Amino acid sequence: MFDSDSAVRIDSNRPVQHTPRFLADRMLGRVTRYLRFAGFDSVFTMNRPELIDRAVSEGRILLTRDRSVAAHCRRVENLEWFCPETNDSAEQFILIYRRYELWRYRELKHRCMKCNGQLQGISPEQATEIVPAYIAGSVDGFMRCGNCGRIVWKGSHWRAMQIRMNQWVDRAHQTPR
Ligand SMILES: [Zn+2]
Repeated sequence: MFDSDSAVRIDSNRPVQHTPRFLADRMLGRVTRYLRFAGFDSVFTMNRPELIDRAVSEGRILLTRDRSVAAHCRRVENLEWFCPETNDSAEQFILIYRRYELWRYRELKHRCMKCNGQLQGISPEQATEIVPAYIAGSVDGFMRCGNCGRIVWKGSHWRAMQIRMNQWVDRAHQTPR
C-alpha cells in the first residue's frame, strides 16, 4: 500500500533519477490526471500543432494516441515519446508506469488532478477556515493546491483512487514485459 504522504509506493532502492514530466494530447486527458495523482508533473493540450515543439522545449515526454503525431515524432530528434496502444485509461497508466519505471521516483507529492499544481499538506485548523466543519472534523489529510488553491482531503473519493492506483501498480509489476 501507499504510505501516508508519498504519492507513489516506494519499493525500490535504485537511485532517484530525473523525474519524468509528461505532455499528453487531448485523447489522454484522463491518464494525465492519474499521473498527477501519482505525483508526476503532467499536462495535456488540445493544441495538436504545438505538441511536439512544446514537448521538446519543455523537456517533457510526449504521450500521444494520434497516429499522425506519432508518425511525426519518429522524425524528431531529442524527443522522447510514447503511444500507449489502448483506449483504456487504466491500461494506459499501467503501460506508461512500466515503460518509464515510475516506481523509481520516490517521495513525490500528489499533484492537483485538475490543474497539475503541487498539493501541500495543511492543518485541520487551516482547513476549518475553508471547508465545512462537519468535514474538517471527520477526516484528515487536508492538502491545498499551490496553484489553484483547491482544498482536497483523503476522503472516500481519494481512498478509492488510491486503491485503484495500487491495483494498477501491482498489475504493472506482474504483467510480462
Ligand atoms: Zn489545482
